[in-house]
Amino acid sequence: MRSLHRKVPPERFALVWLTLLLLFAGALPCAAITRQLNGNAYVSLGEVAKRLGQDFRWVKKGKTAELYSEWTTMRFTIHEQDFTLNGREIGLGNPVASNKGELFTSELDYNKTILPILAPQVYKDSASKLYHIVIDPGHGGKDPGAQNPKLGLYEKNLTLDLAKRLEKRLEALGYKVTLTRTTDKFIPLEDRAAYANRIGADLFLSLHFNAVGTPSVHGIETFAMTPQGQPSSNRVNLTAADKRDYPGNKNDPWNALAAFYIQNEMLKFTGADDRGMKRARFVVLREVNCPAVLIEGGFVTNPTEGRNVGSAAYRDKLANAITAGVLTYQKTLNRVRGK
Ligand SMILES: [Zn+2]
Repeated sequence: MRSLHRKVPPERFALVWLTLLLLFAGALPCAAITRQLNGNAYVSLGEVAKRLGQDFRWVKKGKTAELYSEWTTMRFTIHEQDFTLNGREIGLGNPVASNKGELFTSELDYNKTILPILAPQVYKDSASKLYHIVIDPGHGGKDPGAQNPKLGLYEKNLTLDLAKRLEKRLEALGYKVTLTRTTDKFIPLEDRAAYANRIGADLFLSLHFNAVGTPSVHGIETFAMTPQGQPSSNRVNLTAADKRDYPGNKNDPWNALAAFYIQNEMLKFTGADDRGMKRARFVVLREVNCPAVLIEGGFVTNPTEGRNVGSAAYRDKLANAITAGVLTYQKTLNRVRGK
């Protein structure tokens, strides 16, 4: 038998190998344009744009960049521990870094925040059904939560009222809805999470209102469980707890997506200030087995927002907004699961 290379001229043989090599390389996950910065694996924003099929442009060279498509614009700024998606604030675990004039985001932020929101289909294997929703009205009984006695506002009453409004809307849409409390009763945080796990919740919505010493502070924020290996919002350094894997981390992509959708709808419905989709290891987010978000619907300590959250009409708006967020989440789940 005559050997192959005698039939095929060497230069053509090399071309075949090169083609095969390129095809093979194209099928591999792209590992290029990554760096170790501050002890973390980082990926350049140019590479992120490429992975997501988006375009890249500098808003301010070396400082602020945008990744954009027909539908979305993401804006990243050097040293910031968040980015914006279509103008909405989204918290990052690691600040945006710079190296040789290029901007970088951490691989963890790419995998745990950017990808789940921009391309949730990547996580379709962990997408679950959505039928049983547990609403958790924050505080209760001996624990009033945030308060503004001058306006007669107590967080425990506001959350229970909002929970009942939300329950009605979700039930009308066909969801099974259970509240962690239906009366002014104190329930430890661990018990709330354990209850949701025991009854097999598909989504956990914890409702809260904020308070702070400075009356001018206002706005809405929504929290998702902090991914393993990252600090919660407003911190940079890692603690021992940051390195642990908690039950809530099973649903990292879906926590992020649900929190983003709900935050987005709350801002749309109320016109309130955007304090961002943030990260925390609150007990109720940490210990539940299903996707979970914690909503801070406004500051009772701000005169204008306090009066807003104190009005039934505004709490109706919040209930409608959270419902819209759940529906958007449901739509994405259906698409991803092929239903
Ligand atoms: Zn609270």
